Amino acid sequence: MTTKELISDANKYIMNTYSRLPIVLVKGKGAHVWDSDGKKYLDFLAGIAVCCLGHANSSVSDAICRQAAELMHVSNIYHIEPQIRLAALLVQNSFADKAFFCNSGAEANEAAIKLARKYAHEHMDAGRYRIVTMKDSFHGRTLATVTATGQEKFQNGFDPLPEGFGYVPFGDLDALERAVADDVCAVMVEVIQGEGGVRVPADGYLEGVRKICDTTGVLLILDEVQTGMGRTGTLFAYEATDVKPDIMTLAKALGNGFPVGAMLATDAIASSFTPGSHATTFGGNPLAMAAGISVMGELLQGGVLDNCRKMGVYFRGQLDELKKRYDFIKEIRGRGLMLGMELSIEGADIVRGCMDNGLLINCTCDNVLRFVPPLIITEEDIDQAVHILDEVMRDV
Ligand code: PLP
Repeated sequence: MTTKELISDANKYIMNTYSRLPIVLVKGKGAHVWDSDGKKYLDFLAGIAVCCLGHANSSVSDAICRQAAELMHVSNIYHIEPQIRLAALLVQNSFADKAFFCNSGAEANEAAIKLARKYAHEHMDAGRYRIVTMKDSFHGRTLATVTATGQEKFQNGFDPLPEGFGYVPFGDLDALERAVADDVCAVMVEVIQGEGGVRVPADGYLEGVRKICDTTGVLLILDEVQTGMGRTGTLFAYEATDVKPDIMTLAKALGNGFPVGAMLATDAIASSFTPGSHATTFGGNPLAMAAGISVMGELLQGGVLDNCRKMGVYFRGQLDELKKRYDFIKEIRGRGLMLGMELSIEGADIVRGCMDNGLLINCTCDNVLRFVPPLIITEEDIDQAVHILDEVMRDV
């Protein structure tokens, strides 16, 4: 089939939930992907912060192939060896004592919300069920997680929304303190807001959130679906602060592209889940776990995280140089290889221009270009990306 025919069939057979760009991606290797016409692109979106080790990473692909030939799926009513191994790896390298596996970020957050509510029913004063989240946050698209998401544009048309969520401005500790009333059981926050425009809070913010949670006795849930798995230069973004959460959610890069999510918690909190409390058919299945074990193995070797930190600094420096040349660039922000460029104009034409010139990026909040490349990129990749951006911006 030609690209035109494929896109025509896509419009005919697939629900219209994305405004898709008019290319069909068919192959990837490292930081590059190819479309159905054979055109090569430098991929600085990486499935939106998913393919941390690059496309077709041989360790992950081999692990998946080996596992597929051995055992692809069994029920969670039995013990699953790779699940035990990935849980141990995550627990041994984080604040957590226990893991629950699922298939996406939204599901991980849904599990976190349910665990916080269940814990509150058992251990907090009656009537504590509300969860405070941040304006401009993003936590997923299920009914509970889209309600947790502090952006009306994602909620419009789906009411009545579930009860029990409230929002305060990201970064505003006074507002949070006022919002944590005696009906609140948890605060849920991203370490750096991703979909909300790559927003990094001021130093000390997360410590302030932790303090409010401690003083009021409510749980702290960190949504590290986008920031986790090395994206910001440490395995988990909270490691760059003095804060440890009570519950943390992961997905995106955990499987380097294989769908997998996880919700981690301390023993005291995890023990509120007992048989029957929560479940998923596919969560923790051997194939997803094999991918996760492989990703963890690569990240724990250190080289990839080291490269992420180094390339993050280099890329940011190059983007700062661009900022000096174009007055429509308002701000460069982010950490590691999660970088955003806020513009005073809409970003869609720049995204399209970059794609036409062989660079894949995206734009959040209409005017924030987002760069979340594989963590294995090189200086040459960055130079090429910045060169393409420069060429496209020159024509704006
Ligand atoms: N949480 C955060 C911080 C995210 O960035 C996302 C997705 O972009 C989600 C949750 C939802 O993850 P998923 O799309 O896998 O359901």
